Amino acid sequence: MPLTKVIIVGAGPSGLLLALLLARAHVPVELLEQTHSLDTNPRASHYTSESCIEFDRAGILDEVRAQGFLPDGVSWRRLDENKTRLVALHNAIDDDDETGAGRYRMVCLPLHKLGKILEGRYGHKVVEIGENEARGKAWVRVEKEGGEAR
Ligand SMILES: Cc1cc2nc3c(=O)[nH]c(=O)nc-3n(C[C@H](O)[C@H](O)[C@H](O)COP(=O)(O)OP(=O)(O)OC[C@H]3O[C@@H](n4cnc5c(N)ncnc54)[C@H](O)[C@@H]3O)c2cc1C
Repeated sequence: MPLTKVIIVGAGPSGLLLALLLARAHVPVELLEQTHSLDTNPRASHYTSESCIEFDRAGILDEVRAQGFLPDGVSWRRLDENKTRLVALHNAIDDDDETGAGRYRMVCLPLHKLGKILEGRYGHKVVEIGENEARGKAWVRVEKEGGEAR
C-alpha cells in the first residue's frame, strides 16, 4: 500500500526537521504540536557540523547562518568554577577552507528562532494513537481548540 501521509508528533527541532526533509522528498506530512507557540525557553543555540549537514539537506543552512552567527568556539563551565572547562569546541575554520568543512562550521542561533525557520502546527495535543492493520491505516486523536479531532 502506498504511503499516503506521515504524522509527526511534536514540533521540536527533531519533528520540524523531519517534516521538512520528508516534504522535500514529496512525502505528505502533518505535524501536530500540543502547545500554541514556539518554546522560547533558553535551550539549544549551538549547532555543530553534524547538524549543519542536516540543515543543508533540508535547505535551511543558508538562512540559519544568515540569522545566526559563526562563533570561533564555545565552552561550557561549572557555574561556580569559571576556570574549569567541561567541554570546549573550537570553530575557527575559514568559510572558504579548501576541504569544504567551513560551510559546516558550528553556527549559533537560539532554538526558537530556528523553529521559526522550520515552522510547525500548534495547539494540537496528541492524546491517543492507533492503527487498523486490516485497512492499512493509522490514526491519531488530538485535543485542540474547539474540541477533538481524529
Ligand atoms: C539548557 C539546554 C541547552 C541546550 N543546548 C543545546 C545546544 O547548544 N545545541 C544542541 O544541539 N542542543 C542543545 N540542547 C538540547 C536540545 O534542546 C534538545 O536536544 C532538543 O530540543 C530535542 O529536540 P526534540 O525535537 O527531540 O524534542 P523537544 O525539543 O523536547 O520537542 C518535543 C515537542 O513535542 C511536543 N509534544 C510532546 N508530547 C506531545 C503530544 N502528546 N502531542 C503533541 N505534541 C507533543 C512538545 O510540546 C515539544 O514541543 C539543549 C538543551 C537544554 C535543556
